[in-house]
Amino acid sequence: MRRVISVVVVVAAFDARMARWVSAADPAPILITLWWDTEDYVLPASDDAALRVARWLSRQQIRATFKVVGEKARTLERRQRTDVIDALKQHEIGYHTNYHSVQPTPAMYLSSLGWDEGVAEFDRREKPGLDDVKRIFGQHPSCYGQPGSSWAPQSYGAMKKWSVSVYLDSGNHLNVEGQPFHYCGIVNFYSLKHTLRTNLGGPQDLKAAEQRFLAAREQLRREGGGVVSIYYHPCEFVHQQFWDGVNFAEGANPPLDRLKLPPAKTEAEIATAYETFESFIRFLQRFPDVRFVTASELGRIYQDRSQGRTFSRAELTRIAEQVGDSINYQQIGTCTVSAAETLLLLGRSLQSMLQKSEADGSVQLLMSPLGPTSPTVPQTASVSTPYHQFERTLADVLDYLDRHGRVPSAIWLGSVAIPPESFLATLARVYRQRVAGEAIGDEVAFRPVTVAARKYVADDDPRLWRWVIFPRSFRAPAMMELARAQAWTIKPAIRHDEELKR
Ligand SMILES: [Zn+2]
Repeated sequence: MRRVISVVVVVAAFDARMARWVSAADPAPILITLWWDTEDYVLPASDDAALRVARWLSRQQIRATFKVVGEKARTLERRQRTDVIDALKQHEIGYHTNYHSVQPTPAMYLSSLGWDEGVAEFDRREKPGLDDVKRIFGQHPSCYGQPGSSWAPQSYGAMKKWSVSVYLDSGNHLNVEGQPFHYCGIVNFYSLKHTLRTNLGGPQDLKAAEQRFLAAREQLRREGGGVVSIYYHPCEFVHQQFWDGVNFAEGANPPLDRLKLPPAKTEAEIATAYETFESFIRFLQRFPDVRFVTASELGRIYQDRSQGRTFSRAELTRIAEQVGDSINYQQIGTCTVSAAETLLLLGRSLQSMLQKSEADGSVQLLMSPLGPTSPTVPQTASVSTPYHQFERTLADVLDYLDRHGRVPSAIWLGSVAIPPESFLATLARVYRQRVAGEAIGDEVAFRPVTVAARKYVADDDPRLWRWVIFPRSFRAPAMMELARAQAWTIKPAIRHDEELKR
């Protein structure tokens, strides 16, 4: 009997390999990223849940991404759960803040801070947890995602410093047509159209989830493939209610040594939860076009190919032609450029042609500037300036971009300040004229224009902050305005299928 079983296992493994080979060549791959917010440091049974799902997934030859909370990692260490740590290590480790729900959470403590102070504050509060997760799991976390809906733009600045290059979560603060995108120089899998999961209550939940997946797969196949994001928490297999809802609701902040245990599921409910989840995963594994990918694999497949790339004058002319009065990202070949990168590229190219008549105007992109980090100056009417001032201002803007790594919030035409979008629109016009050999004229005009990319960032809607642990009155209008200013950095992330064959 044993021998018969082992033969079956070998055949299954062979089939799984075949399926993977087929998917690598498939023109419409369905990339499933399965991620676990591993956060409950109260209920000991959640340790066993993490152990069980991690081991089961390993047996299924699936690598998932476990985003671990610093205090959870330390708790596993204190409880001497090396079995859990070892099982999670077989997968990819991400980061999910130091204390998760202890007040104040990131959106709260960053709500009144600007960019630089906010980045430093996020680093002060959260870096120790990142270091602990890295030490305990022996892996540099590949991704970050916020606790609950406690999202904040300044976390991206800290991620850059920490070399954590993927944002993996689910939320409504940013949304670029439900697709992967770049924001502040980080690739985001955040508000994906196909974010789905099965509830854990048995066959009816499973059936509904299977239907949702089939619909998502059908749509993705029509679109040439894409990502399905599936997330869980180990603790939800064993609890009736989340550990933080029990302790930190509506702003409560009990001391860590007095946390209450959340109510547990019955043995039968727990068995049903595992059975439902495992059946769902086995269902997904049956499709030859499905491939499970971790956060870092997604980061590689959707890597930003604009960095280090040299843009020719012909390409930059096409970019300049499309800038218009409504500033947004643009696509050139297999890469995209943000509004901030457009400002840098067109500015550098024009400056090189102004300085040397024989310059070919090509530019290598060596940085991805942030958007403005303070409120931009308003502009209600067109202003104009002598051409010589335009050239002086261009040199100043490029120096500012180099020095500060961000788009200025005010661009000075001598003693008159205009917002950066107005300058970019005029720069693009002057660029086109210069390349076409047209006369530019003695006066240069700057019209009021809009930043269309701002639409991808949510307003400070109360629905953003509905997480159970926020005080009901919590709002973050200044922080969401800072987030919208970073719309200058938004651009879709393009899938590079050749990376699937690696
Ligand atoms: Zn969480």
